[in-house]
Amino acid sequence: MKVLKFGGTSVANPEHINKVKSILGNQNKEQIAVVVSAFGGVTDLLLNASRLASEQDVSYKNSLKEVEDRHISAIRELIPVKSQSAALSKVKSELNILETLLEGAFLIGELTPKLSDKIVSYGELLSSFIISEFLKSEGLDVAFKDSRELIITDNNFGKANVDFNITNANCKGFFASNKHRTTILPGFVASSKSGDLTTLGRGGSDYTAAIIAAAVDAEILEIWTDVSGMYTANPKLVKQAKCVSNISYEEAMELSHFGAKVLYPPTIQPILGKEIPIAIKNTFDPDSPGTLITKNNNGNGKTVRGISHVGNISLLSLEGPGMIGIPGISKRFFETLSVKNISIVLITQASSEHSICVGIADEDVDMAAEAVNETFEYEISRKKIKPVIVEKDLTIVALVGDNMKSHQGLSGKMFSTLGKNNVNIRAIAQGASERNISAVIKKEDVKKALNALHETFFEENIKQLNLFVMGVGNVGSKFLQQIRQQKKYLKEELKLNVRVIGISNSRKMAFDESGISLKDWENIIDQGEPANKEVFFSRVNALNYRNSIFVDNTASAEVSESYSSYLKNSISVVTCNKIASSSNYEYYKELKHLAKEYNAPYLFETNVGAGLPIIDTLKHLIASGDKVRKIQAVLSGSLNFVFNTFDDSTTFHDVVKQAQEQGYTEPDPTIDLSGVDVMRKILILARESGHQLDIDDIENEAFLPKESLEADSNDVFFESLKKYEADFQKLYKDAANADSKLKYVAQFEDGKAKVGLQQIPKGHDFFNLEGSDNIVLFFTDRYVDQPLIIKGAGAGADVTASGIFADIVRIGNF
Ligand code: ADP
Ligand code: ASP
Ligand code: MG
Repeated sequence: MKVLKFGGTSVANPEHINKVKSILGNQNKEQIAVVVSAFGGVTDLLLNASRLASEQDVSYKNSLKEVEDRHISAIRELIPVKSQSAALSKVKSELNILETLLEGAFLIGELTPKLSDKIVSYGELLSSFIISEFLKSEGLDVAFKDSRELIITDNNFGKANVDFNITNANCKGFFASNKHRTTILPGFVASSKSGDLTTLGRGGSDYTAAIIAAAVDAEILEIWTDVSGMYTANPKLVKQAKCVSNISYEEAMELSHFGAKVLYPPTIQPILGKEIPIAIKNTFDPDSPGTLITKNNNGNGKTVRGISHVGNISLLSLEGPGMIGIPGISKRFFETLSVKNISIVLITQASSEHSICVGIADEDVDMAAEAVNETFEYEISRKKIKPVIVEKDLTIVALVGDNMKSHQGLSGKMFSTLGKNNVNIRAIAQGASERNISAVIKKEDVKKALNALHETFFEENIKQLNLFVMGVGNVGSKFLQQIRQQKKYLKEELKLNVRVIGISNSRKMAFDESGISLKDWENIIDQGEPANKEVFFSRVNALNYRNSIFVDNTASAEVSESYSSYLKNSISVVTCNKIASSSNYEYYKELKHLAKEYNAPYLFETNVGAGLPIIDTLKHLIASGDKVRKIQAVLSGSLNFVFNTFDDSTTFHDVVKQAQEQGYTEPDPTIDLSGVDVMRKILILARESGHQLDIDDIENEAFLPKESLEADSNDVFFESLKKYEADFQKLYKDAANADSKLKYVAQFEDGKAKVGLQQIPKGHDFFNLEGSDNIVLFFTDRYVDQPLIIKGAGAGADVTASGIFADIVRIGNF
């Protein structure tokens, strides 16, 4: 014999019930028992109606109406007209009783556990009746059997305890004499020895099926649900979760106890001694293999088999000097909780016995705290013990696996993964069986924690990076294009899965939690919501993804002011915007400090020399103990382009215009031509070399006339260039006459920096610098006479984008 159980989603509506029918039609056993849940959502509706009625809120009738409509319409759709009226009248009369029960709760304004069970039982009682009538009408050899006649419990309403002696005998007796091939039974419901209706606890239909399977020594128990098996983590929260094909009873039990709802925790108990295999199958994908739960099936030495979590947990801690070495404190503590019938999910006790800390359900914690304070009233009054401390709204995340005990370092890996992702751990417990390591964390960190742990333990190779990109102009759009183009390479070769979750330009912003399509980002952003920097930050923060990176491709001071907020929330920052690193020294230092404290890199390689690895090289020199003596550099791709292109056959105005059009200048070209941009760059290099410097400390001999420097718009600026053309021509001629070229040079030596236009003679390292190239010479303790030289294209959207890209990859390897 075989027992099958179909959960709420599997029987939620006529379309799904038809899928159940075809699964049943494919069975080849001579006898099958089929346990069904209430139609999906009906149990919640009934519990909601009961609560509202007991609070004398008439809106309970809305929930009741929904329950009625769903069942009546299911009959109309499933059962042929000729046999419909009998089924309809039976269901209507049951619904009338249900209505009377709810009216009763409404009138007396009260809901006893006994009445609640009676009301909620209608979910399974109606669904099983309708499904059996439907299957009969389809010509299957089907009978209906009320589980209340088989499963006998105590009177612990809401979650009754089964009397297995009576129940097993009932089940054996019934199925031994049953003549029908398929028997449909309601899950969840039972009756007590005194004849009252009881239920087996939320999710208890799994348990009904297991009780029957064990009683009749079934060959297999199949749990048909809405996912294709037991996964390495809840697939609704962890997209990368994978189905576990084989798992042991103990592992499955541990996972379900720690929140893997796919199996109701007590389900395995009756099965365990009989060693009946349990298969978890998907009603909506019946051919997928699912999960097989059996004895000794713990995955060929694999350590962590699954990650689960239990929400709505509170921590209750008792501590104080009066606890040390005094026997009986723990006993009194646990007894107090036990008397109040409060179950403890997790215990940690410091070996000094200075404190005991337990995890219990949020709903029990106020009562528990009151009771414990009462028990220790005397010690508290004498300040030997502190009043209990309660922390609410927590969640336990647990790693589960039979073979975890024989492996060192798993807990270290678990906690460092959580730490790296800025998930604060409130308490830790490891079961004595070492089949489970649990950490208590804040509720809002659950999704991040599960995904990060999943990545560490199941996707060891692939790391997910979640990007939030602000600024999608010249550089930003090139950057998105490069990511799109390299996505496959990054995944296959560097094991990095890079997704862009949010993008924003100055007008609009858009988010997609599953990753914005980089083929279509322009349309997506156009259809987005109005851009707002604060809202953008709060979204990124609320999403709370691990490995989040904020990418700033703007030149906005306001955006650069937001970096500290990102870093404080462990969101890395990659930027080509120089303002933050070249603004006041305190802010630069603060950002560096936050990056360390919150484990979130702050990278700005493109601030100097676009994609050239200048800052990275400098960092390596310093990390290896070298000291920078002098830096000489041509750091402005724009100015280099301008002075390489400018001669007596053109005008200065036209050359600058061309540079702007080709994306070699900042949006405001005076930033480049005034030398401010170069000042910022040499300032950053000086700071990165370990010197405290501010922009005002840098000497700058401007070559632009005052009028151009002070222009308040680009148009005015360009007009002024025309006016001073003769001066520019003179600069050129003087240099040419001296057989030199004009270069805008930055220098840092002896703690001092200066920038300015210089005539560079033939033979100098700078003389042959082409186009928009940059060059940096580092003179250090190790590179004394021959400097370390970095040279190459130092401006342009493509190389800048590739520099940002390199910073992203650096974070990926972090
Ligand atoms: P049913 O109504 O069929 O009993 P449940 O909703 O009780 O279904 O259980 C199935 C759900 O369990 C899945 O939809 C999934 O969201 C959740 N779940 C939690 N953890 C896991 C896990 N590790 N593997 C599979 N499903 C899980
Ligand atoms: N219908 C009950 C519930 O939702 C039992 C079950 O579906 O397993 O809790
Ligand atoms: Mg369930």
